[in-house]
Amino acid sequence: MNITSRRILLTVIVSALIVIEAFAGEAPRLIIFISVDQMREDYFERFAPYYSGGLRQLYTEGTFYSNANLNYASSVTCLGHATLSTGAYPMTSGILDNEWLNPVTRKSVYCVEDTSAGKVDGEGGGESPNNLLVTAIGDWLKTSSPKSKVITASGKDRAAILMGGKHPDCAYWYSRKNGHMVTSDYYTQHVPRWVTEFNSSQWIEKNVPPAWTKLLPESVYTKEGPDEFIAEAKVDSSSSFPHQFEPGKKTEQLLATPYGDLLVLDFAREAIRAEKLGQRGVSDLLCLSLSDCDYIGHAFGSNSHEMIDHLVRLDRALGSFFADAQKAIGVSNVLVVLSADHGVMPLPEFLSQFKHERARRIIYQTEIKKQLDSLDQLLQKEWNIHGQIFENGGFLNYASAARVGKDSLQVERRAGHILQSIDGIADVYFRRELMDARTPDRPYLSEFRRSYYPPRGEDYQIRYCEYCLVSSQTTGTSHGSVYSYDTHVPIVFWGAGAKRANVTREVHTVDIAPTLARILNVEYPRTVDGVPLEELK
Ligand SMILES: [Zn+2]
Repeated sequence: MNITSRRILLTVIVSALIVIEAFAGEAPRLIIFISVDQMREDYFERFAPYYSGGLRQLYTEGTFYSNANLNYASSVTCLGHATLSTGAYPMTSGILDNEWLNPVTRKSVYCVEDTSAGKVDGEGGGESPNNLLVTAIGDWLKTSSPKSKVITASGKDRAAILMGGKHPDCAYWYSRKNGHMVTSDYYTQHVPRWVTEFNSSQWIEKNVPPAWTKLLPESVYTKEGPDEFIAEAKVDSSSSFPHQFEPGKKTEQLLATPYGDLLVLDFAREAIRAEKLGQRGVSDLLCLSLSDCDYIGHAFGSNSHEMIDHLVRLDRALGSFFADAQKAIGVSNVLVVLSADHGVMPLPEFLSQFKHERARRIIYQTEIKKQLDSLDQLLQKEWNIHGQIFENGGFLNYASAARVGKDSLQVERRAGHILQSIDGIADVYFRRELMDARTPDRPYLSEFRRSYYPPRGEDYQIRYCEYCLVSSQTTGTSHGSVYSYDTHVPIVFWGAGAKRANVTREVHTVDIAPTLARILNVEYPRTVDGVPLEELK
């Protein structure tokens, strides 16, 4: 053996050792992968004194990434869940928005719609991961270990479906029609008996009180601000505590209270028990997306009494759920991973009144659309064109402009100038800029690129000003921007193999799936844009 061969052999041995060390011990028997829909990273820090359950365990005992970001522009639910499970940015996964217009037919497409997916046992249907172009952590696990089970559950169809990847054992979501957890025949022809039994157990009647009231003393909440605030939306005809369910509407209003998450967690308990998740000598994956935080955040904002109360209730519920899972499977066999699909902007009125931030609400129809329409009309006159230049959904009428001798660059130059003259619009990114790597860099161009999948993309993407909430509503708040209030989310690993650490370097939600693949010792495809997190070796 010559020196070079010895060196190669040594390198192979050292590499092998590194691999062995990286996967020291067995892979966890159960990974519980949780997305708290609309959870901001600061919810851990700000409300830490009030946590005593699962959120406290995650924060104080887990590997906690305090500087995790989506790293792409469009911070909404479909993309958020697709990136969590696939490790691929929207530019790769094809899930570029909650809904988009088909560029050819201009018909709206919902991210998980699938008209070929039928009902199961008379419920659900109409949805599948058909529009998702890549595989996810559950698929990689099942390819490597066919006996492993992958089950997802959520208050929202889109979250359950996109966390599950292409071929989980099943994805279940909540039906507001009847309070059942449903699926589609993309996954199965019949649901297992435990699902039928759960759905007929009258869970809502047994577990949901007539009103949502505060759990902690009033002084905890008033430190954050008033309960009643002018910009809060009304959910049950009220924007302050106690929140009485409207008569006969518990099922419909459940997800806008903490009780929707409790239902999903109880459903997950049943999945662990009945499917023997983590108890069959292989690794299983249970993906849960908890939706209540999103509905409560949209209506009342991130500083509301409702949000504080929801989070402390979620903390308690997660603590008891984790304890039950560990009891069934063994403390060292369960790994919990928690992150979020996106954050949220605080109510702009709250920011300007109490935090002295320059924040404002822009009503889309009257402040953006109206101006754009009148500028469009002026341009039509000037160019002698009949019909709009700015078509619905971010498309431009290049064909009409071409008929009067204007090429696509002239159209975009003018369109960009017009759009940027509108108060509230900070920048515009055109298709060619998003697709051409030679476009000179400018703020947020990279983030918009990662959010853009050309075959489903519009002709241009708008970036609104920071702390500007563009909405059709006069109350409530939202997310969707590229700014940190919408994109800064928690990432935490807790349990089997995860050490206590607070990691402050910047990481991204696309890094979670390849990290889980490494923990499970399964291969992942080249469609993954993220990198395994080195702290989880
Ligand atoms: Zn969401």
